[in-house]
Amino acid sequence: MSRDYDIAVVGGGLAGASLACALADSGLSIALIEAVAFDTPADENLKARTTALAWGTRAMFDGLDLWGAMADAAAPIERLHVSQAGHFGRVHVNAADYDLPALGYVVPNTAMIAALRDRLGELDQVDVIAPARFESLAYDDSGHAVLTLDGGEPVRTRLVIGADGQNSSVRGALKIGARVDDYQQSAIITVVAPERAHDGCAYERFLPGGPLAILPRTPDTCAAVWAVPTDEATRLCQASEAEFTRELNAAFGHRLGALALAGPRGAYPLARVLADRAVARRAALIGNAGHALHPAAAQGFNLSIRDALGLADIVREHQALRGSAFDPGDADMLAAWAEARRPDQHRVANFTDGIVRLFSSRLPGLGHARGAGLFGLSLAPGVRADMARRSMGLALLDELPTRDTLRKKDRR
Ligand SMILES: Cc1cc2nc3c(=O)[nH]c(=O)nc-3n(C[C@H](O)[C@H](O)[C@H](O)COP(=O)(O)OP(=O)(O)OC[C@H]3O[C@@H](n4cnc5c(N)ncnc54)[C@H](O)[C@@H]3O)c2cc1C
Repeated sequence: MSRDYDIAVVGGGLAGASLACALADSGLSIALIEAVAFDTPADENLKARTTALAWGTRAMFDGLDLWGAMADAAAPIERLHVSQAGHFGRVHVNAADYDLPALGYVVPNTAMIAALRDRLGELDQVDVIAPARFESLAYDDSGHAVLTLDGGEPVRTRLVIGADGQNSSVRGALKIGARVDDYQQSAIITVVAPERAHDGCAYERFLPGGPLAILPRTPDTCAAVWAVPTDEATRLCQASEAEFTRELNAAFGHRLGALALAGPRGAYPLARVLADRAVARRAALIGNAGHALHPAAAQGFNLSIRDALGLADIVREHQALRGSAFDPGDADMLAAWAEARRPDQHRVANFTDGIVRLFSSRLPGLGHARGAGLFGLSLAPGVRADMARRSMGLALLDELPTRDTLRKKDRR
């Protein structure tokens, strides 16, 4: 026996859950298959995780009527300060220069996941199948995909979405290869309490071993995301609190006075994983299953939600065009989605990788060139505006929203 759905999303992380919410008004039946039970309490590492959301991503959550459920936990980024250790160049970007209240927002992952999962619980069209692990995929005589699950009955569907993370089993089952570039860095995640108020400023500091971001989290605390060579990460995570704090302060400098440790430390190995293709027979990959990026530019989820909402849009368009003949696994529709998403995916993946390689290289002599590059950025308004646009993820919006637009939105 199998259960039938129009669409089966494998993976209930940020990407898969966002897609399921975005498809909720399509009238299609959706299964969301997640390996970990939804009511599993967050561990200490997950509690320390935050995601910097571009302004455009906030707008998308707003459009899904989900922003309100996470807004209280969100810290606005009003300014961005980018620097390189030991070099002169700096880049400053202010939200006020773009007539925006914030360049983006830092949101605890637990708040985003809770908002998404609470919504999923309210949706009749979405069946959450969890805990259940996707194991294999085959096609039946009618051409439908049949998913075998560890922990549930098989699921028969017209479209499978692989949203199961960077080591995606769906990608493997579809025989889609992936290019993996190991950065040999790990990101140490923790929470710090700065001596001086952060005043809504997000700092990114490029160090020889990898970038360090100190981001506003609450009025009194910041999220620290510190990419270091993997052996260093192991050492720093095991170091005493005093030793870790001393090294973190030495790396960051004194812009916020002394930083005190205010949360647990967790380490995430960093690799760039790019799937060879985004679509296959009755299947598509979104989020980290399609492209996992270094967090240096804070773009991974911002890119993923554009994949997810882009897919939901094209599904609805084809539904409207085809009526009762609509097939959510239509190969032409999936190819059109993949083609439409490719330029954004390539641009963001290359931009992120370029930043990591340029600034993390320990090659002698490159430091000054990098410093000069940053200094050039701080002087060149056109380039700086382009950087701000990328960091705000506004490429999808026709024009920058103004304060008036926002006020009207807030009044609704
Ligand atoms: C340290 C760090 C900091 C980051 N900071 C930012 C940031 O500031 N801004 C930003 O935009 N991005 C950031 N990112 C990237 C962002 O976290 C990812 O892009 C995002 O989490 C991808 O979500 P996902 O749903 O695709 O994958 P995942 O979060 O990996 O979720 C995959 C889900 O699939 C489930 N699953 C796996 N296998 C199976 C299976 N076989 N069957 C069923 N379910 C399965 C898993 O349990 C999981 O719930 C950061 C990443 C890291 C590592």
